[in-house]
Amino acid sequence: MADSIPETQKAYLVPELGGTVNLVTDYPVPKPGPNEVLVKVLYTGVCQSDLHTARGTAPGADGKFITDIKLPHVGGHEGVGRVVQVGPDEASTSRGEVANVKEGDVVGIRFLARVCHECEFCTSGREQHCQQATNHLHHEDGSFQEYCVLDTKYLTLLPADIDLSVVGPVLCAGVTAYKAVKNAGLSTGQWLVVVGAGGGLGHFAIQYGKVAGANVVGIDTGKVKQDFIESLGGKFVDFSKSPNIVEEIKTLTGGGAHAAIVTSGSPKAFSGAVDMLRIGGTLCCIGIPPGDVHLTTPVATIIIKGLKVVGNLVGSMSETLEAVELVRKGQVKPHIEVRDFDQLTEVYELLERGDILGRIVLRVAG
Ligand SMILES: [Zn+2]
Ligand SMILES: [Zn+2]
Repeated sequence: MADSIPETQKAYLVPELGGTVNLVTDYPVPKPGPNEVLVKVLYTGVCQSDLHTARGTAPGADGKFITDIKLPHVGGHEGVGRVVQVGPDEASTSRGEVANVKEGDVVGIRFLARVCHECEFCTSGREQHCQQATNHLHHEDGSFQEYCVLDTKYLTLLPADIDLSVVGPVLCAGVTAYKAVKNAGLSTGQWLVVVGAGGGLGHFAIQYGKVAGANVVGIDTGKVKQDFIESLGGKFVDFSKSPNIVEEIKTLTGGGAHAAIVTSGSPKAFSGAVDMLRIGGTLCCIGIPPGDVHLTTPVATIIIKGLKVVGNLVGSMSETLEAVELVRKGQVKPHIEVRDFDQLTEVYELLERGDILGRIVLRVAG
């Protein structure tokens, strides 16, 4: 055993929804049970949805706020850690695919924690929709702590030769953007518009879109975001300066985009994106707006223009590993800033102001 495992640890607790997020030093280190491993968390990204969960404004499928959340809640679902202890009875697992997990392996801590492996979604590569699933956002403690327990039957084994400080954000923002680009079904030379292009989801969507061969237009605002988006190979349009952004995009793309990926949370951003599509275009919705936000596009528009509206919730395990592989190969480069673990409150303030380029990653034990 490389490290001795303490009894207590640092963790960010959400004692009640809508209250404060508190860094404590005496949270119990969990003990791995059968078919579980204990992971020492090295790095964790900070996702907007952690903030919504802590605030009590995380929307469910009915558009209402989710209130059935384990308390105290420990967020974090863009984590990278190292296995430091394998639980008892590992050899007795009935599933052979995890027989090789051992201390020292590097694994991801994602949104999804456990799935049933048997339902129609689990058996068709859509296990993120498993109705028996648990996740690190509402049900189980995530990567905003020094040690985390993971299920060996659903373990995200990461390649050994990847930069561990950058891979965390790929496990939520990255795979979500990757899946949206996949859903967009783009061919080489087609136009993709990314709304909210300078943020965590957006900067991945630009890059995965470029890998798919698309011409990408990034919509955001300000010179800093402009320089960032252009450095990623996107054309930039400033929504706060354009007199008519829909017409500007239509002109730029020769009649409208083949697909639009919306990471922003406002109803105006969604209906505006639909208006930017050319005939047969696809709207990909990925950033989940808090609260009761509706798509206000007339049904007639969707029918007459032959549009597709696609939503996706992160991605499956295999899609996650595909998104990671493009990062490992250097085709997609997460833009991250590493900060110390005690900076979470400041990072939440920056997130609320929309002031983060790409993603901030906290160094937990890295
Ligand atoms: Zn997330
Ligand atoms: Zn299932």
